[in-house]
Amino acid sequence: MGLKVYISGDLYERDEARISVFDHGLLYGDGVFEGIRVYGGRIFRCREHVDRLFDSAHAIALDIPMTRDEIVDAMRRTLEANSVTDGYIRLVVTRGVGDLSLDPYRCRDPRVIIITDSIQLYPPEYYDQGLELVTVATVRNHPNAVSPRIKSLNYLNNTLAKIECMQAGVEEAVMLNKDGYVAECTGDNIFIVKGGRLETPPVHAGILEGITRSVVMDLARAAGIDAVERDMTRFDLYVADECFLTGTAAEIVPVVRIDSRQIGDGRPGPVTQKLMALFREQTAGKAD
Ligand code: PMP
Repeated sequence: MGLKVYISGDLYERDEARISVFDHGLLYGDGVFEGIRVYGGRIFRCREHVDRLFDSAHAIALDIPMTRDEIVDAMRRTLEANSVTDGYIRLVVTRGVGDLSLDPYRCRDPRVIIITDSIQLYPPEYYDQGLELVTVATVRNHPNAVSPRIKSLNYLNNTLAKIECMQAGVEEAVMLNKDGYVAECTGDNIFIVKGGRLETPPVHAGILEGITRSVVMDLARAAGIDAVERDMTRFDLYVADECFLTGTAAEIVPVVRIDSRQIGDGRPGPVTQKLMALFREQTAGKAD
């Protein structure tokens, strides 16, 4: 049985799932998306993801031609058609077909695409031994250019950073904002632990307001761990006791080396491990 892909009301076999080359999603990266996890048949933080999709769309003046409930139903239908109970959903809304001009108002029919896949995690050794990061020269998008809060189809800013870290032989990149403060990684938010306190860059630093990020902040506070948002420099990263990344696909992944500096004792730290365990409990249990 082949993979079925949802496009605007219909399910297509993977090889038949096509959109036009005139779709501005392709021509200009004009559209928005979400990456969502399914655990035990439940769509994790479903409402938060759908709300963020609608916020992203609203920010680029894109009217999604479906209601929130219709989107959720379409995701459930696609999961069912693919018999996915544990996996990943890619939800995409493109601007739709236009002409070769930039004009988004000539695009009359946004496409809603839903692709499901089995779970994609980093290799297990990253979770056991921790990841290495490098800071890259590509600056995170200025919030007044393309706000990083918009989860848009234009990911070139992140792709350029990814190329830089891969060239350095490292999987993930620390991106700084235009003022030199730490923003986030190419597909994940970043956290440090210092003196028992959890710290992460604030939204104004120019980041995607990660859903895993907010789950982790809530889990930390519920466990009595002080959790704050604050501007941080690379110095703060280097002298952190612990560091980890959060994201829908990655969940929580420890970081043990940044720009060749060892973080803490070079192994995933106790607070990171505790949060990883709490997160696992959350996704195994009553995920909404
Ligand atoms: N930052 C960026 C740039 C991302 O693309 C993502 C999502 N992969 C995240 C952070 C993490 O967000 P979330 O926890 O909502 O997946």
